[in-house]
Amino acid sequence: MGGNKSVITLENVTKAYGSGESRTQVLKGTSLSLEDHDFVVILGASGSGKSTLLHVMSGLEKPDTGTICYDGKDITGFSDDQLTQFRKEHIGFIFQQYYLLPNMTVDKNVKMGADLAGNADYAEMIEAVGLKEKRYKYPNQLSGGEQQRVSIARALAKKPDVLFLDEPTGALDEETGRSALDYICRLYEKYGYTIVMVTHNQNIAEMAHRVVIMNSGRISDIRMNETVKTAYEIGW
Ligand code: ADP
Ligand code: MG
Repeated sequence: MGGNKSVITLENVTKAYGSGESRTQVLKGTSLSLEDHDFVVILGASGSGKSTLLHVMSGLEKPDTGTICYDGKDITGFSDDQLTQFRKEHIGFIFQQYYLLPNMTVDKNVKMGADLAGNADYAEMIEAVGLKEKRYKYPNQLSGGEQQRVSIARALAKKPDVLFLDEPTGALDEETGRSALDYICRLYEKYGYTIVMVTHNQNIAEMAHRVVIMNSGRISDIRMNETVKTAYEIGW
């Protein structure tokens, strides 16, 4: 995946949960096109469908109708095994919860991410998030901010083409939240993946190149930021 071509394309994607009386139509026909090395924030109120959009875009869940293409390749018809393989090879995830394995060291947690994609040189990622000295600590010996940095290193250790983040600072205080975002941006400059970050925080949207506004399961606006701010320049 190189150049400035369109890396991800969604056409008329719909997704509902439940059935009968309890059926909720979450995505109501979403179309979107992202370029390679895009830095996109998906911004919207709680319940607007941001996480659902992230799940179907990244191959974690299948849409009901519509198509999702990566580099022109339609992943919508993939089997579960094909989707798992696709995510392993191309996609990194960072969530509000860190989902670290509690009985494994920082080193082993990050190695797990690297192993998914058969990438041997994961140590550089531990260093890149400033945790070289804490490499043999366990998650419960780390602060929340440090644990989130482990999850960043784990996601990046497989050298993903696209990094999906869902409210990555949701569980962090201001200082550690800014620090985590700063690592994500600096590593973005270095490694050149595409970022798709979900947030309800308008300040964080000022860091993106492009902001996709979600409203009740629809994209209501897409705007470009003429200038982008760093994690330390935005409001909190
Ligand atoms: P956001 O991330 O913007 O807060 P979500 O995509 O998580 O929004 O949810 C959008 C709507 O879909 C909400 O009303 C939520 O309750 C519903 N929803 C999300 N996931 C599920 C699920 N697995 N089962 C049933 N309803 C769901
Ligand atoms: Mg959400």
